[in-house]
Amino acid sequence: MIQVYRHYCGQLVQVEVFQSHDEVIAAFFHYDNQDDISKCPGCDEDLDIDFCGSPWLVEPMTDEAARYTATNKFCSNCWGSDFEIIPAKDIHGEFLGVRVVCKTCKEETLGYVSEQFVRNQKADDYIHWRTDIASISQALGVEPPVFRTEKQSLSELGF
Ligand SMILES: [Zn+2]
Ligand SMILES: [Zn+2]
Repeated sequence: MIQVYRHYCGQLVQVEVFQSHDEVIAAFFHYDNQDDISKCPGCDEDLDIDFCGSPWLVEPMTDEAARYTATNKFCSNCWGSDFEIIPAKDIHGEFLGVRVVCKTCKEETLGYVSEQFVRNQKADDYIHWRTDIASISQALGVEPPVFRTEKQSLSELGF
């Protein structure tokens, strides 16, 4: 099985681990479709079987904390809320807890944000988008589109 691990320098590397009686007997490192790399693509240091600090970018947590995070938080990367709770083990198979991982970002999951934060960010983006449209229209010498509120649109439709 290939797992993603994080090197001390922060670089993500894929590791294929072979075990016999819970003992790691061999590990092969892959990166970017390259087989059997011997040096870390991030820092150029030699890779060995015990290199892994913590796999993935998000730290393991308790079941309870994971359930709370998965139901109440959003991915800080894509703002998605579709999470997966996966067991977290170190390279020797030692159980460390569970990880809450975004189904879209997977091992690139960076952290979690609140619903309020996502709402504020989206409102900000909308304001920037409207400002951009207005300045583009001005540069092209055309009339900017009229932005209607929901209320205005409804009253124009006769509601
Ligand atoms: Zn490295
Ligand atoms: Zn995500």
